[in-house]
Amino acid sequence: MDCLFCKIINREIPADIVYEDDEVLAFNDINPQAPTHVLIIPKQHIATLNDIEEHQLATVGRLQYTAARLAKDYGFAEGGYRVVMNCNEDGGQTVYHIHMHLMGGRRFTWPAG
Ligand code: C5P
Repeated sequence: MDCLFCKIINREIPADIVYEDDEVLAFNDINPQAPTHVLIIPKQHIATLNDIEEHQLATVGRLQYTAARLAKDYGFAEGGYRVVMNCNEDGGQTVYHIHMHLMGGRRFTWPAG
């Protein structure tokens, strides 16, 4: 499959991996928008948030669970952090394999741009 993030999962292209288990992979974003900017992805290919099926809910929940655990590991869980999932063109999605952005280490503003 011609999917960038599937290629990272399969070690066909490199990434700076910070966490992996049977269901998810996490790696540093190549264009970080915060002192810590990690992408957390499911190992199953799911193109967009619109494509999640009921049998995949546990895996999708693991994205959020992993984000919270990593935030604790990085030391900004209590101070706060941001998670973002972009969907389709208007949402700013550029890679069509769902991913949760975990960003921390600075204060964020709202609303998002
Ligand atoms: O939400 P969106 O689809 O825009 O996010 C894709 C993210 O994937 C970007 O933040 C981009 O920097 C990151 N990326 C990466 N490694 C690649 C290609 C893209 O970390 N090889």
